[in-house]
Amino acid sequence: MNAIATKPLKAYAVNEHDEQSGAIYFARHAITARKAGANEYGDGELSYVSCKRAPWADRFADTGIVPASVMVEQGWHFECTCCGVRIDEDLSDRWQEGQHDCLSDMLRQARRRRKWTPSMIVGTQHSAVFCDAACEAAWQIVRAETRRIEARIAARFKAIVLRRFPDAEIVDGGDRFQRPHVYVTRNAAGRLVPRQAVVAFRFPGMKSAPATLRWDHRSTYHGGKPHWSCCVGDQAAFEAWARGQAVPSDLPPVPEEAA
Ligand SMILES: [Zn+2]
Repeated sequence: MNAIATKPLKAYAVNEHDEQSGAIYFARHAITARKAGANEYGDGELSYVSCKRAPWADRFADTGIVPASVMVEQGWHFECTCCGVRIDEDLSDRWQEGQHDCLSDMLRQARRRRKWTPSMIVGTQHSAVFCDAACEAAWQIVRAETRRIEARIAARFKAIVLRRFPDAEIVDGGDRFQRPHVYVTRNAAGRLVPRQAVVAFRFPGMKSAPATLRWDHRSTYHGGKPHWSCCVGDQAAFEAWARGQAVPSDLPPVPEEAA
């Protein structure tokens, strides 16, 4: 048996020199870990990163999955995917009283602060990380709401395209870059709202690429009204085709008007 191959994997902490980013790597030799970390965090330059043994993480060598909770206990820090707070050992001190809807909400938050320990952190160094299960649950709700808005707005824009151009063939499904795209963010009041929608569609005579119906929220530079566009090379074909189709008077409303 080859002695080199059976040398056990050991954990190494590789960090940028400012210690703001880094990860645990598992390798048989420090130089292997350092190279991997330098590629990820130091533009490939070994001198940009430090590499130290992290014996406390050796027990995760089998899976390579290091829980964020254990890393925080070792002085690492993360950002909560849900609330954006810095998660380190002092997290509960950082949770502010904030705004509470009612007394029971305030008491609930106080209880959460009192009870929190790093072991309650959800996630690993390779996944989304959350302060605790409450933040993870809140995030799942936000994700579901975001998906619901995306689906609703995409359906509405597809309807606008087909109402205006019944012969259009919507680009859907498999094409990751051209399928209907809706971008959702929070507005100033904290509500999830659509900011941008793009629906691509093929049309008779198209040669280069699908045309699009695009809308940006009115707060953006190009924002306000949905607009149609196509490649320069397809412009003549698109315009000829568009001229041949009657403009209906009852196009479905764009999201801002309908919100
Ligand atoms: Zn959080």
